[in-house]
Amino acid sequence: MTNIKSKLPLVGDTIFSEMSQLAQQLNAINLGQGFPDFQPDNELLNAVCQAVQQGSNQYAPMTGVPALRQAIHDKVIAHQGRSYDINAEITVTSGATEALTSSILALVQSGDSVVLIDPSYDLYAPVVTLAGGHPVHVPMNPPTAGNPRFSLNWDAIADAINQQTRLLVLNFPHNPTGLTLREEDLDALEQIAARHPFLILSDEAYEHIVFDERPHVSPVSRPVLAARCVLISSFAKTLHATGWKIGYCCAPVEISREIRKIHQYSVYSVNTPFQAGIAAYLKQSQTVQTLSAFYQKKRDRLMHGLASTKLRPLTSEGTFFLLADTQALGQTSEKELAIRLTREAGVATIPVSAFYPEPSSPLANHHLLRLCFAKQDTTLDAAIERLAGL
Ligand code: PMP
Ligand code: GLN
Repeated sequence: MTNIKSKLPLVGDTIFSEMSQLAQQLNAINLGQGFPDFQPDNELLNAVCQAVQQGSNQYAPMTGVPALRQAIHDKVIAHQGRSYDINAEITVTSGATEALTSSILALVQSGDSVVLIDPSYDLYAPVVTLAGGHPVHVPMNPPTAGNPRFSLNWDAIADAINQQTRLLVLNFPHNPTGLTLREEDLDALEQIAARHPFLILSDEAYEHIVFDERPHVSPVSRPVLAARCVLISSFAKTLHATGWKIGYCCAPVEISREIRKIHQYSVYSVNTPFQAGIAAYLKQSQTVQTLSAFYQKKRDRLMHGLASTKLRPLTSEGTFFLLADTQALGQTSEKELAIRLTREAGVATIPVSAFYPEPSSPLANHHLLRLCFAKQDTTLDAAIERLAGL
């Protein structure tokens, strides 16, 4: 008999795996887990094939292929307005996932508290626990009839932050609500930062998907916040290639040095040809600049299509997700409803309650499901038709 003591006894398969598996079993249309059902740009595929054929097949430098770090540097200056040192402050990681995990493990000490804003992406709390830290959950204000959108509660965030707070985790554009940051949010954050020495983890995986002419607002655009911030992103959503697992983090040198110690011994280096291919492609492609417009059309298609169903969409300001209110379908547990819709309508979605520490609690269930619109128009139309038949 082995005597294994779990470090994460409460963790099972993620909701994304669970719903994708159910969708596959039932042959349902999968608007659950966030991934495109179409191919990345042909030129990107060719650039990666070329990198393989031309010999980019051995270990990359631990910190990433230099041409890709240069491309990230240029992209971050253009998009976030901040310059990071290519050698000391930019690290290519195995997706945003590894950047987040390496950062949390590097920065959170036993007993530290880490402030998470709920609904929050499923990775943050378990990894904080693994690092010996305590997740402190601060809920957003949920949608109401008068204000049908989630909103940030900066008073509650300020109350949760104290001298024991090591990290505040931000994620904007926000998965799952689609909320984006505004300059007033950065003002509020600067005021809290003036009182306490916490670090900021800014997960900007959806940085290039922002709608209705909104700017992408990042904490690293403000010097005082950038000095204590780890900026994390990924090429998964930006290049329609979630399976490639190429992400990165940018942070001031003394923070990057610690993150790299974890990266070095968990991954060492990320696969070479995909890094080389992405670097070559970014030099000549307009994909990044046109991504918001591309996804805005899909958001609108799904939003308008849902008018023929009992689901009521909430506004999505960014990401490739939108939330839909399901009160007309009359089920209190979002997860049970998501399973029912997969079985009865043949459409898989994600219950927003999964992004709360206690998914079955009434505080986590607001009659909302998350729908992913990173799908071909024909897929979206077919899903709408099925949902209309409910
Ligand atoms: N952060 C957020 C908010 C995400 O939604 C995801 C997944 N798409 C990730 C991080 C992980 O990104 P990656 O697939 O690059 O590891
Ligand atoms: N980030 C993706 C989502 O929110 C899922 C990625 C994963 O399955 N780990 O759907």
